[in-house]
Parts: sequence; structure tokens; C-alpha cells
Amino acid sequence: MIADNPTCQDVVVLVTEYLEEALPAAERARFEAHLAACPGCAIYLRQMQRTIKALGTLTEETIPADTMAELLRGPAHGQVTLVGRNTFPLE
Ligand SMILES: [Zn+2]
Repeated sequence: MIADNPTCQDVVVLVTEYLEEALPAAERARFEAHLAACPGCAIYLRQMQRTIKALGTLTEETIPADTMAELLRGPAHGQVTLVGRNTFPLE
């Protein structure tokens, strides 16, 4: 369940469900609203989409545990509220 104002962590956790279109419409809308306002998460989503395209599938194991941990605690993420000043680590 996504809160009215989902956090970046919510997005990271729910991205697989979003991409599998497993989210209820209301949550999907909140997810997309966050993406529209958060460049870091928008980039993260694009990377996930690229990964899926490359692998042809998406499972929990698609995201390496260390990558997930990095995303969840990365200092840049969660602070990417300034459009044009994204510091989300791309590589
Ligand atoms: Zn975000």
C-alpha cells in the first residue's frame, strides 16, 4: 500500500510491481505522481526498464541485493527534489 505521498523508498520497493502492472490503479497513480516530481526515481525506473529489456524478465533477483541496499540508503536518493540537480548515482 502506498501512502498519499510515497517516498523514494516506496518507489524502490514497489518498482517491480509497478513494472509488472501489479499495482492497483490508485497506487499506480501515486507512484507516477512521485516519478513526475522526483528525477532520481524517474531515472531509476528507466534503468529498471532497460534492465528488464536486456534480461527479458524481471524477478526479485533481478536487482542485486547490494544495489537495492545502495538505493535504499544512498545519501543522494531521497534528496532529489531539485529538478535539474539530480545526484542519483547512475552507474
Ligand atoms: Zn523519489
